[in-house]
Amino acid sequence: MSYSKNKSLLIGSVSLLALSAYGQKHPNVIYVFPDQFRNHALGFWNETGFKDKVNFTADPVHTPNLNRFAKESFVLSSAVSNCPLSSPHRGMLLTGMYPDGSGVTLNCNSNRPISSLKEDAIAISDVFNNSGYDCAYIGKLHADFPTPDDPENPGHYVEEAKPVWDTYTPPERRHGFNYWYSYGTFDVHKQPHYWDTKGKRHEIKEWSPKHEADKAIEYLINKDNARDGEKPFFLMVSMNPPHSPYSSLEDCMEEDYNLYKDIPLDQLLIRPNVDLKMRKASDSRFYFASVTGVDREFGRILATLKDLGLDKNTIVIFASDHGETMCSQGTYDPKNSPYAESLNIPFIVRYPDKIKPHVDNLLLSTPDIMPTVLGLCGLNDNIPTSVQGQDFSAVFYRQKIKRPKAALYIQNMDGEKDTDGIVKSYFPSSRGVKTDRYTLAIYIDRDTKKITKTLLFDDKNDPYQLMNLDINQHPKIFKELCKQMAILLKNANDPWFREQILSELIPYK
Ligand code: CA
Repeated sequence: MSYSKNKSLLIGSVSLLALSAYGQKHPNVIYVFPDQFRNHALGFWNETGFKDKVNFTADPVHTPNLNRFAKESFVLSSAVSNCPLSSPHRGMLLTGMYPDGSGVTLNCNSNRPISSLKEDAIAISDVFNNSGYDCAYIGKLHADFPTPDDPENPGHYVEEAKPVWDTYTPPERRHGFNYWYSYGTFDVHKQPHYWDTKGKRHEIKEWSPKHEADKAIEYLINKDNARDGEKPFFLMVSMNPPHSPYSSLEDCMEEDYNLYKDIPLDQLLIRPNVDLKMRKASDSRFYFASVTGVDREFGRILATLKDLGLDKNTIVIFASDHGETMCSQGTYDPKNSPYAESLNIPFIVRYPDKIKPHVDNLLLSTPDIMPTVLGLCGLNDNIPTSVQGQDFSAVFYRQKIKRPKAALYIQNMDGEKDTDGIVKSYFPSSRGVKTDRYTLAIYIDRDTKKITKTLLFDDKNDPYQLMNLDINQHPKIFKELCKQMAILLKNANDPWFREQILSELIPYK
């Protein structure tokens, strides 16, 4: 089905969709996703009812609100950020398509015009809007190529530094979000800024998650008619912390830092795969402080929802865009790797009385989120055909359906550049799979497209991924994982499938 036909179909059915089959409003949705928040940084994983469902020990974090929320929720232990990097994740989340389909293949900045959310892609917010929802976005977007469109200084970028990372998103690029309070990317956590629905810039002097929770609360209580109270709402809140920098009290709240400041590092970084000698090790105090601060702000949003009596008919989801390695595996890159700390994200869904609390190991991929959230709201029929992910809402309602055997891992790098350093293509540097049992990543050479490195972990017997298994010594496992990978790469119409990369190993046909 073509895009335009699809869109007109959606618009044609608006009046029917605002009400469910029972004549009730479709549920509201709040989707909160802080940046770089790993699944392991959730205290409840060490509690009864949770700890026997995972084979890791949770970080020693204070997350009282999320702990309580998890006990009321359907909690996934194995949700995957398939391309664990800011912009590509956000492109997948918003469109239900893998990075090549969403258009967001690399982290967005002004040197990378090839990486930007496609204007004609149908986003989750387009569907909600066309289904009669009021749609709001608060916080970091980081899915657009920055252009010189500063609303207060037309023809100029919103910042001087090159490459430009931050950007303003004009109304025609907001994909159905009618309420806007957002920015591109900006990492001064206690001096954030935002552009509102009308394009007015707001300079703020407080910790960004606190301010964003305040804005979310204003939206919920409908201050200044922020939303159409007759409609159900879809609210996305994208908090930047615990994203780096996390190195001083400029980055987090002191009350949260005080919880961690005197704890020895070997009691904070408890994963057996960490290198405590890394200069980043003491940053863990600020990282975990940011986690605790986010927990508090999330709790304030939940409390408002309850005060307003909206909690029963609101689906609340807590997730993240990718994880944080924080001295695991000896890497200084917090993300963009297949390691569990980077790949595994929180995914917690609360829908009181409708979805029973449960812990489940569903291998949810990022492109599955859009169709699954629409499915949870009874909007299955409105899932666009452009979506590559699957609707797994039935799993949350405890119905038996076919479950995914594997999730794709994707890493892209800059490809060719022109003489000005402008990126003209992207290089699909690594692909892999995550299954219940294993993690595999295959890295290739830019020119020859031959294997340069492989990572293969037995996540069941080696949950901290301490032993990289040699693929030549485990040919049966490798072959089966390549088979799973072929199916996923084909479904994603990935460049590895299109170019038949390593076809002697990956059975695309
Ligand atoms: Ca990110």
